[in-house]
Amino acid sequence: MTLSIAGRCLALLALAALPGIAASYPAASGDAVQGATGFELVGQQTQGGWLRGTAPAGAGEVRLGGVSVPLDAERRFFIAFDRDAGPDGLLEATLTDGRTVTTKLAIAPRAWQIERIAVPLRPSATPPAEFLRRRSAEVARIAAARAIDSHSEGWRQRLVWPVRGRISGRFGSQRIYQGVPGSYHSGIDISTGQSGTPFVAPADGVVILAAESPFTLEGNLLMIDHGMGLNSAFLHCSQLLVKAGDVVRQGQVIGRIGMTGRASGPHLHWSIKWRDARLDPPLLAGAMP
Ligand SMILES: [Zn+2]
Repeated sequence: MTLSIAGRCLALLALAALPGIAASYPAASGDAVQGATGFELVGQQTQGGWLRGTAPAGAGEVRLGGVSVPLDAERRFFIAFDRDAGPDGLLEATLTDGRTVTTKLAIAPRAWQIERIAVPLRPSATPPAEFLRRRSAEVARIAAARAIDSHSEGWRQRLVWPVRGRISGRFGSQRIYQGVPGSYHSGIDISTGQSGTPFVAPADGVVILAAESPFTLEGNLLMIDHGMGLNSAFLHCSQLLVKAGDVVRQGQVIGRIGMTGRASGPHLHWSIKWRDARLDPPLLAGAMP
């Protein structure tokens, strides 16, 4: 089987979309789920998915898996589920009268695109000291950016696709080398066949990182905080059209796609995280229009 490698992430391992494997995604607006405990929840209760909710009347605090989740003034909140989350989650609210209400979440598993390779995972030669020094500084900048809470309300919007194109690498796809798993693909790759195509903000937000020079792996990296722990990252850009601290609106052009960093061809790698959980973009934006 020959796979085209144009327009994929190299370091982050993407698999080309295979003919005949059509991922079926539910509508991004989500399905309403149970409200018996007073929680109102709408979203995709699955690995890589998310829920927007309203806490029960009188709720002072909400916790997911024992970890506090912030509420807005109308008791609304956002939670999400990592690619490897589940099968169960526990959502709790402590009411101002001291009672605690709980609801159990069943997080549906996904069938990830897994390719088994009969060759060993390439042994990693010790990277040069100069690379390690640069890389640790880049990783620290990414972590510092993700720690910023901009108080944006983009998390309340249905996300839009940053650019239309061919899906050249799916979220969650992974290669297994003689039984040893490589790291899975952390975002979705979108190819338009060329560099320079403008892309837009998928939701309102604040720019938390705009690389002034290319990162070793991500190239020209742009990160947008959508509030409540939700953020987007855009990799391999040829040009960034916003700078750190800028407030951006959904649909605003924020950069141009490219192949800076480690990429096999021009494409936009779009990844979404909620806290430490990696999410599947089509579950938030729906099918490519
Ligand atoms: Zn990618």
